[in-house]
Amino acid sequence: MKSGLIVDDVLIIGAGAAGLAAARALSLAGVAVRILEARERIGGRVLTLHPSGASLPVELGVEFMHGRPRELLEVFSADGLHAIESDFTNDRPFSEFSGSETAARTIPACRSFRVREGFDSVCEYLLRSAAGARLNLKSIVTEVRWRPGRVAVLTRNAASERVFRARRLIVTLPLGVFKAPIGTEGTVRFLPPLPEKQMAASALEMGNIFKIVFKFREPFWRAQPRFMFEQASSRAIQLWYDTFPLNSGLLTGLTAGPRATALLSNGREHAVEQALSCLAGVTGVGVDLLAEWLDCWYFHDWQSDPFSRGAFSYVVAGGLAEQKKLAATLADTLYFAGEATHCEGLNGTVEGAIQTGQRAAQAILEKLQLGARRSAA
Ligand SMILES: Cc1cc2nc3c(=O)[nH]c(=O)nc-3n(C[C@H](O)[C@H](O)[C@H](O)COP(=O)(O)OP(=O)(O)OC[C@H]3O[C@@H](n4cnc5c(N)ncnc54)[C@H](O)[C@@H]3O)c2cc1C
Repeated sequence: MKSGLIVDDVLIIGAGAAGLAAARALSLAGVAVRILEARERIGGRVLTLHPSGASLPVELGVEFMHGRPRELLEVFSADGLHAIESDFTNDRPFSEFSGSETAARTIPACRSFRVREGFDSVCEYLLRSAAGARLNLKSIVTEVRWRPGRVAVLTRNAASERVFRARRLIVTLPLGVFKAPIGTEGTVRFLPPLPEKQMAASALEMGNIFKIVFKFREPFWRAQPRFMFEQASSRAIQLWYDTFPLNSGLLTGLTAGPRATALLSNGREHAVEQALSCLAGVTGVGVDLLAEWLDCWYFHDWQSDPFSRGAFSYVVAGGLAEQKKLAATLADTLYFAGEATHCEGLNGTVEGAIQTGQRAAQAILEKLQLGARRSAA
């Protein structure tokens, strides 16, 4: 059953980092914004678990801030979050160095930091500070009918179908969702269709990641940590890392690309077994003993998740122009954001996603100011 019409200034599809950043920038400027999110949670590819009794959060999606991006530093500083450097050296409140010149000189982009409180804190802050923005969770967008200056967005969930209307729409759908055949779960039918966006999306690629977090009773590997952070492309799991310098029994295994797809091809249980036997191989501890020491494991299949359909985008040779086409605004009505629309090399990152949301919001604000000036003249 379709319920009544709701009208906002701007609608946003997706409550990932890009959508939340756009909502924040617009609502702080006094624009009526509503985010329509398919899942029952915000964050998108930021997926943090807080298991009871665990000393640290478990990150199944975004885990590291690379270098010193302004967008994240602002959030860290405003929200009192702690950045923990993953290269075994730093653990201090971010406020200690977020504004300092020394930090600017000493933190190159290759250094990685995790958020001690969990990366979901970043998304929660973006939403909390988006005063006035409305959020509809469990609202899967299925169709967008549009003409210049008008959009009608259809959503559905288990209980109902709804229609939301606005003058403008920001689309932050992941590239994988854009690329999927229209009509399959998560995809959005645009009327009239957007062939140029479909073509641009088909010329870009969505990569896959297999990431598993094992929780052991003790960090038994600390006695022989040399196997960690060493990329081994010949193994099922290419990279292992733990939470050092913080103590926990969490050990993460990561594999990207076709190897990740292959790992999952025989199902999740089989993939976990393979990861465990790979760990046995690199540590020299038998699988049976590992299984005995193992408390539990955490995993999310980003490839078969209909609302991500992959981990992050990458550009194939000749694809730079396609990113710009994917990002291009249509008739001051449809705006596009999300990591895959970052055209200056930060696609595939959370700060890149935030920047694209801010970019779309800024473009809309400029149009609104222009309109206000015209009507005042
Ligand atoms: C395993 C993994 C590890 C990563 N590690 C890092 C890292 O360490 N550092 C880093 O910077 N980046 C990392 N990334 C990349 C980072 O997660 C992304 O670049 C970033 O989070 C993308 O944000 P986004 O807003 O563009 O997209 P998303 O976060 O995917 O947001 C899109 C939103 O749209 C929603 N949506 C989809 N379809 C519909 C629909 N039909 N209707 C309504 N809503 C819909 C989704 O549910 C989602 O909430 C990692 C990604 C993965 C998967």
